[in-house]
Amino acid sequence: MAKETERRALRYAVIGAGMAGILAGIRLLQAGETVTVYEKADRLGGTWRENRYPGLTCDVPAHAYTYSFEPYAEWRAYYATGGEIHAYFEKTAAKYGLMPRIRFGHEVVSCVWDEGEAHWILRFGDGGTAIADVVIAASGVLHHPRMPEIPGLESFAGRAFHSARWDDAAGLDGARVGVVGNGSTGVQIVSALSRRAERLVHFQRSPQWIMPVPYFEYSEEEREAFRRDPALIDAIRYDEDYWASIHRFTQAITHVDGPEIAAIEQLCLDNLETSVKDPDLREKLRPDYRAACKRLIYSWSYYDAVQRPAVFVERQRIAGIEPEGVRMADGTLHALDTLVLATGFHADRFIRPTQVLGRGGASLDEAWRVRPTAYYAIGIPDFPNFFMLNGPTGPVGNFSLIDIAERQWAYIDQLLDLLRRGETRAIAPSHAAHADYEERRIAAARTTIFGSGCASWYLDATGVPASWPWSYEAFADAMAKPVLADYELRTAELA
Ligand code: NAP
Repeated sequence: MAKETERRALRYAVIGAGMAGILAGIRLLQAGETVTVYEKADRLGGTWRENRYPGLTCDVPAHAYTYSFEPYAEWRAYYATGGEIHAYFEKTAAKYGLMPRIRFGHEVVSCVWDEGEAHWILRFGDGGTAIADVVIAASGVLHHPRMPEIPGLESFAGRAFHSARWDDAAGLDGARVGVVGNGSTGVQIVSALSRRAERLVHFQRSPQWIMPVPYFEYSEEEREAFRRDPALIDAIRYDEDYWASIHRFTQAITHVDGPEIAAIEQLCLDNLETSVKDPDLREKLRPDYRAACKRLIYSWSYYDAVQRPAVFVERQRIAGIEPEGVRMADGTLHALDTLVLATGFHADRFIRPTQVLGRGGASLDEAWRVRPTAYYAIGIPDFPNFFMLNGPTGPVGNFSLIDIAERQWAYIDQLLDLLRRGETRAIAPSHAAHADYEERRIAAARTTIFGSGCASWYLDATGVPASWPWSYEAFADAMAKPVLADYELRTAELA
């Protein structure tokens, strides 16, 4: 058995240079480790690189959507824009010396576990390879655009594109624009374009619950105060009210008959009643399922936007798309120049289409045949030394994914310590532990608000909510310390 002092030098491969990959890379560099981040694109930023739509904002307060080790005095408002967030990640990666460790233009097409060597062989799109003792998959959740299957879409004579593939040549100002979809993305786009388009049609199948939230800008004096005294930033990030609202929210989604969800529904309904003046429009916008069943929309501007003269909310079924525009089931044609498809993402892909082959040739596609899953959202049996950030069954939704990734990293780092100390060459959760976790998770997930009878990207292919089904505290507790009895360690052949 290796001694405590003989730390094993490990080679780490991080896949993806988005928020979570940058986090892992920086944390490993800080620990003096050798890390390479593989990024298929030519810039870092993940979702904040891919999404550039007008109105792109993060509806988690900016000072909470910030790495804990890198508070940022420069946020211009309580909610940051996508451009600001992207700049923050670029600055942070550069400041911590990560840029030289990122291999841009390196798409990982496969990861194959070599059991004899206890390492991973990564293959890239250009045929090159690399070896890593540990793989950190940080490839994102909402990454693969979901195009709607609407008859005639390809015949549209104007410009039609997915919200995450923004077409800069598309006409917006003074143009006739349609936006399909009213998730967080569609709502933000419509809010931003309502004063710019000559006509803006918001096509929506199911109205959303809209939670009113305050929006305010930070003055230069406030930013100067943040620069001088980061404790002022911490006071916002760790604000008791903010954290109480997170805890209330997780109570709400896990107790469908509880007072917390009832309070959220009441707040949203009051918002609808008091904000939307026209009774017909109000009825068009009234949801007929439980609040937070789909991801709750936080907006300070959407109800104002849809009441502007240029905006029309269309609730009819789309019959098809024609060269001139969108034809509704009742025969109405909305003539359009630009059609934005804010129709969401394939949320079940995770690291795929990368082919991942673990112990004994076990394939990730096969392991995830029914649904993508991972023990506590971190690891998968038969895939040793392979850890995920923001992987399947973690808490995604209305929280700061940075906080979640940091907690996950703290957990993974404790497993990595076993490898560094030479206590094992390979570590993966056991089948039994994973099966037990999944059984409990699925049972709990069915009773959450996500399973209360609406369609959303939270549901897996079998209709089971894919998200973390317990409280935020339960997540924090689980991430605080791994239960090592749930892991299989390979201690044979140790030096
Ligand atoms: P989404 O929530 O999956 O919404 C997709 C929308 O497209 C839904 O309104 C859906 O209608 C509609 N749709 C899909 N196919 C359609 C079709 N064939 N015909 C008509 N309508 C169709 O996608 P998203 O808005 O891009 O948001 C995804 C997630 O990204 C969010 O839930 C959130 O987690 C994240 N996000 C976060 C922020 C933030 O500020 N933090 C901002 C943007 C996005 P139905 O509801 O009727 O199915």
